[in-house]
Amino acid sequence: MPTLKIFPGRIAQNAQHLKKLCGLQGVDLVGVTKVTLGDPIVATEMLGAGLRTLGESRLANVERLHKTGISHHMVLLRTPPSHEVKQAVRLVDTFLVSELGPLKTILEAAFEEGRECNITYMVDTGDLREGVYYKEAVEEITEAARIAGKSLTGIGTNLGCYGGVIATPEKFEILLEIGSKVEKKTGQPIKVYSAGNTASLPLVEKKTVPEGINQFRLGEAIICGTDVTNNRNVPGTRQDTFILSAEIIELKTKASVPEGMIGQDAFGRKPVFADKGKRLRAILNAGEQDIYSSGTIPLDEGAEVLHASSDHLIVDVHSCRKSFRVGDRMQFRLSYGSLLRAMTSPFVSKVYEHAI
Ligand SMILES: *Cc1c(COP(=O)(O)O)cnc(C)c1O
Repeated sequence: MPTLKIFPGRIAQNAQHLKKLCGLQGVDLVGVTKVTLGDPIVATEMLGAGLRTLGESRLANVERLHKTGISHHMVLLRTPPSHEVKQAVRLVDTFLVSELGPLKTILEAAFEEGRECNITYMVDTGDLREGVYYKEAVEEITEAARIAGKSLTGIGTNLGCYGGVIATPEKFEILLEIGSKVEKKTGQPIKVYSAGNTASLPLVEKKTVPEGINQFRLGEAIICGTDVTNNRNVPGTRQDTFILSAEIIELKTKASVPEGMIGQDAFGRKPVFADKGKRLRAILNAGEQDIYSSGTIPLDEGAEVLHASSDHLIVDVHSCRKSFRVGDRMQFRLSYGSLLRAMTSPFVSKVYEHAI
């Protein structure tokens, strides 16, 4: 089985660094564990680094955290489907919502359970994922405040995830403006301005976060030390937080261009090939079910991932100085997307490493 080594101590270092950096701008951090499926050890490291709030997108992950005794303030990052609301209000302290219907359902369920709940109403500032479109936001959030009363504690936005939209101070000014208009209309304070995910981190680094923005929800930067939207490693963080290893099950020299007419591959992708002559290629026991091939980066110098189908990962090892044999293992770094698959796959064993 491929093995995923998890280095919790390194994730803690990332969390400490980012907490300090955000603190300088008056921004509090929500530690997002969803890519690890609510891994309690990873969450514990984040809490140990001084984070007080955790963010999760799926209730099963929240339950997993709760079962191990983690009862810190929990933010549910995605509106729960209706059948999960009753259970959700028992486990979650803050809900991110973007519709009035689910808002009412959540408030009613919380009331029935005798639980307090906080609402962060989401605004779409252009990325086109969740949230009320910013030009229509004042009206809808004013209505939300009328329904939720003091349970409406904040508003938020998310960038980068669908449209790949880059964060700018102007995007966050929009959020602040909407908040102050809603406050004027309702007389109720908006306490939390939850501005971003990892895609928005450059603003913290450049110290251009507008005053008033006081919360970031960070997953990728803490867990992987990367920022895929801006195509970079986050300065001051480590990227060796997870390492995947898989076994070579075939090692043969083959042509670099297939023979015959080229259709689509197993996933409907149209492969392209550069003719580099005959190459030594390793096939490993992992595939798209376990990793995302274009986000799987060999640690051996000269090695290059060519492709993967559901169960076969093909790596060009022709230019490697190291000589491999069938049965050897190769190691890889993973992108956030590839890590998501590795964590989710039951065919990848997870091992915690104490090395720093
Ligand atoms: C996943 C998620 C985050 C964290 O995003 P990263 O890019 O991993 O930092 C923040 N907010 C919401 C709403 C999310 O769904």
